[in-house]
Amino acid sequence: MKKCAIVGINWGDEGKGRMVDLLTEDYDIVIRFQGGGNAGHTVINDLGKFALHLLPSGVFRPGVVNILGNGVALDPESLVNELEDVKSKGVEITPKNLKISDRASLLMPWHKKLDELEEIRLADKKYGSTKQGIAPFYSDKYQKKTVLAGELFHPETLIGHIRDLLEWKNLIITKVYGAEPYTMEMMSDWLDTCCEAIKPYICDTGRFLREAEKQGKSVLFEAQLGSLRDLDYGIYPYTTSSNTTAAFASIGSGYPALRPDTVIGVVKAYSTCVGEGPFVCEMFGEEAEKLREKGHEYGAKTGRPRRVGPLDIVATRYGVEVQAATEIALTKLDVLSYMDRIPVCTAYRLNGEVTDDFPFPSELASAEPVIEYFEGWNTDISGVRRWDDLPDAARRYVEYIEKEIRCPITYVSVGPERESIILRK
Ligand code: GDP
Repeated sequence: MKKCAIVGINWGDEGKGRMVDLLTEDYDIVIRFQGGGNAGHTVINDLGKFALHLLPSGVFRPGVVNILGNGVALDPESLVNELEDVKSKGVEITPKNLKISDRASLLMPWHKKLDELEEIRLADKKYGSTKQGIAPFYSDKYQKKTVLAGELFHPETLIGHIRDLLEWKNLIITKVYGAEPYTMEMMSDWLDTCCEAIKPYICDTGRFLREAEKQGKSVLFEAQLGSLRDLDYGIYPYTTSSNTTAAFASIGSGYPALRPDTVIGVVKAYSTCVGEGPFVCEMFGEEAEKLREKGHEYGAKTGRPRRVGPLDIVATRYGVEVQAATEIALTKLDVLSYMDRIPVCTAYRLNGEVTDDFPFPSELASAEPVIEYFEGWNTDISGVRRWDDLPDAARRYVEYIEKEIRCPITYVSVGPERESIILRK
């Protein structure tokens, strides 16, 4: 049974969705194990262009079973909208190819509200939340103050549970933030409209996965965001509120005995970062604007312009380590084709010294990038499909990264389409 995790090595938006879409061909099951609808995977295939938020990228492949594991932030309202959108473009999604863990916790309507209220309170100290309710959701999950998806099948206890939560939550909403309270009528509406619509997909995914394992089915774990956004190992507090690392894949999958044996880390050929927080290699001005435009670096969920910079070797090497990546997919190499010379952040300068080590989060703000330049290739490589057909300078760039991050680069992506890929194994 093949078990592979596809994870982001950097700040997210590395092109994981594109890699999952490509690789689902070889897998029977795709599992989302953490995060919620706060980021977006962009997938382009013969059915069109899709921005997926919560749905696993395997939904486009007939025969693939997609699972939302217990580790995800399950927002019924967003999921219903996403299902409608994707189905309207001709993608078939039924309880046969989408299964939601009954142990996934529900993101409640007040989580989004609290996200918004807290960002307003923080004002210029805000973390740059996408306001999808993710931080309030995970805080409540760990406080054991939310609802499990499987509870929707137990109306006899569900209503009382929601009433208790509401009583507690309204104290915070009204007394701390001075906002309007939620009512049971609002909750009933939410149950009738959003929750009813996702009920058919909810089941014991642990049992399903145990059976699948017995039958030797192969599994792909799909992560959201990247190493540097991991709650425990990232650039805290500018992280997300869940674990984006492959080590969490088993826990969040719905069947903790299922462990990835291969970890494909996705690295973009340059750096991007959405939102606030330290970004040592950041470029500004015209140079940055050009890279942003060439790479279409605008958030899939929010449309926000992404901050951009050269590839950051220090952060990438750290990202590879925390993911325990066994191989790398390098994406968007084609975007750099316009550059005469390619900048790379090869080290950081910190406290008057040059370092290769990724610093403790509080030190990142005072770190400065050490930039070196590589020869560009100045030719369109988006049609290249064989390693040997890449220009020498492009191959040298890839080989240099591989050596520095100490992990083999087995895929080089030269375009967003499924087939725009160079295999190196
Ligand atoms: P994810 O969240 O990691 O899946 O990343 P996003 O979907 O937010 O961002 C990746 C973007 O880059 C998407 O718009 C992809 O279609 C696009 N993309 C992925 N790989 C390539 C590539 O090799 N070349 C180009 N030009 N675009 C790519």
